[in-house]
Amino acid sequence: MTDMIPFIDLKAQRGRIGARIDAAIARVLDDGRYILGPEVAELEAGLARFNGEGRALSCANGTDAILIPLMAWGIGPGDAVFVPSFTFASTAEVVVLAGASPVYVDIDPDTYNMSPASLAAAIDAVIAKGELTPRAVIAVDLFGQPADYPALAKLARAHDLKLIADGAQGFGCTLDGQSSLHWADVLTVSFYPAKPLGCYGDGGAVLCKDDGLYDLMKSVRVHGEGRERYEYARIGLNSRLDTIQAAVLIEKLRVFGEEIEMRQRVADRYAAGFGNQVNWPRVPANARSTWAQYTIEVADRDGFRAHLAAKGVPSAIYYPIPLHLHEPYAPYPVVPGGLPVTEAAAHRVVSLPMHPDMSDAHIDQVIEAVLSYPAAHS
Ligand SMILES: *Cc1c(COP(=O)(O)O)cnc(C)c1O
Repeated sequence: MTDMIPFIDLKAQRGRIGARIDAAIARVLDDGRYILGPEVAELEAGLARFNGEGRALSCANGTDAILIPLMAWGIGPGDAVFVPSFTFASTAEVVVLAGASPVYVDIDPDTYNMSPASLAAAIDAVIAKGELTPRAVIAVDLFGQPADYPALAKLARAHDLKLIADGAQGFGCTLDGQSSLHWADVLTVSFYPAKPLGCYGDGGAVLCKDDGLYDLMKSVRVHGEGRERYEYARIGLNSRLDTIQAAVLIEKLRVFGEEIEMRQRVADRYAAGFGNQVNWPRVPANARSTWAQYTIEVADRDGFRAHLAAKGVPSAIYYPIPLHLHEPYAPYPVVPGGLPVTEAAAHRVVSLPMHPDMSDAHIDQVIEAVLSYPAAHS
């Protein structure tokens, strides 16, 4: 059995900044303010600074980060929230948890992000049917690439819908130099360890520009607290970020911009190596990806993956089954005409190793493994 190169190498990152992170954790242990300690507010300020606009509210994970604004807006039974089906479970799960109905929208075949034309058709269909009230759109910055916010925001505004950017994979991505929050009402982040900005456990954050919304979300984050402690203004959650995780993230955020550049370097080397022989990801010239995943398309995916594995190259599939085809997610409406682009992508996508510390030797090993598979380009 050939030794596999890493798919994501968190140990290599520890080699660069591990000592600083360990010292930051030790300071929290000595200080003893394990919940909402000073590092949490410091991280929130740092996230907002990094993003370039808005305020950041940390929370327990990237799933709650999407649920919290839905609860703050009072989105619930009888409401429709438009979501892609080609995404991680959370994007639609939170809609059901809030008591509302997801409505599945198809994707663009080049970016895998929500198709504005499909969103327009889905909104029209919900209005025509008259059973649900359109309330919000959740666009996902899939694999780190920004969705088409100018077009999505125009549709959302025309129909008075809230726009959420699910940036679990895409915090730090830009379109025309702007973060997704430039167009969206909120931008949500996950700090799950394998995400581009990961902590040492679970964590999340939600960013927004509106102070009123910020205060509401802050209340939802801690049991719906009102003005006083132990006075409750609404039903909320227990969704605080641990101080230890905030301390880890403060150190990680210091190098995050540089790490996005390091990921871009890997992506550029892949693209140069693959030339026109592989269906590699095309990021529009006005967009910057965080490269949460480097995803290509192949026809004979099982054979391709076995070939890569034999050459020591691991691969992964995000996502093999679109959400609307899973039993608990199947009862909800799909845009008229269905989700042909989503279903085709789910059969063809495969993600290759990608992390900031990838060595040239490992990058070359992946390129050689991919190019030596005869049907890689089909
Ligand atoms: C990871 C992820 C989430 C959820 O984040 P958690 O921190 O695991 O709760 C939500 N949306 C997308 C697109 C994700 O990739």
